[in-house]
Amino acid sequence: MRKTSMETHRRQQMADITERVQAAVEAAGIEQGLAVVYAPHTTAGITVNEGTDPHVERDILATLAQLVPTDGSYAHAEGNSDAHVKATLVGNSVTLMVNEGRLALGTWQRLFLFEGDGPRRRRVWVEVVNSRP
Ligand code: ZN
Repeated sequence: MRKTSMETHRRQQMADITERVQAAVEAAGIEQGLAVVYAPHTTAGITVNEGTDPHVERDILATLAQLVPTDGSYAHAEGNSDAHVKATLVGNSVTLMVNEGRLALGTWQRLFLFEGDGPRRRRVWVEVVNSRP
């Protein structure tokens, strides 16, 4: 397993982690296989979405905020319940295919860490599995 970490910069954001995960795939040195990308956190997640138009990030965060308001009626006393719920909606891992040594992503796709309770240091773990040993 390869471990990376990064700083997020806002309470909630979508941080593009495509290049850091691609670097982990290249370090593994495989041509064909799978990359499991995992966030070991309870208020952050991992997802794939569009990385070209920044309005998409804005729309995703705005929609999550509508669905899960920051000041909702929550029992968890830490004050970040919205982040816990949003992290569950986003999910905390994705599995991507690796083809010819590269993450196999669609034209508009990028890989994101969803930050729900930043800014803070976040870890991303990557396991690369070779399907043609
Ligand atoms: Zn909490």
